[in-house]
Amino acid sequence: MYNHPVPPPLFLEGMCLVFGLIIGSYLNVVIARLPMERSIVHPPSACPGCGAPIRWYDNIPIVSWLALRARCRACHTHRAAERHDRERPADGAT
Ligand SMILES: [Zn+2]
Repeated sequence: MYNHPVPPPLFLEGMCLVFGLIIGSYLNVVIARLPMERSIVHPPSACPGCGAPIRWYDNIPIVSWLALRARCRACHTHRAAERHDRERPADGAT
């Protein structure tokens, strides 16, 4: 029999939160694109205002949202046109 150490509950909860944020973020892209019959894979996300591609480091749930204050890095306009941005902080809690 193996005697595996049990990860602390806080670590597991943190992993569940991160996993939930990633899945929630992706599902919001799916929800936004499917009604418009757009691909959910390509093209990558872009600013609805200026069309600048959103870099991977600007697309980290909550972290990037807070760092950029929900604004585009290129044109500094609100990315509020993407409805999923407003819901992003709650994704991991669902
Ligand atoms: Zn922009």
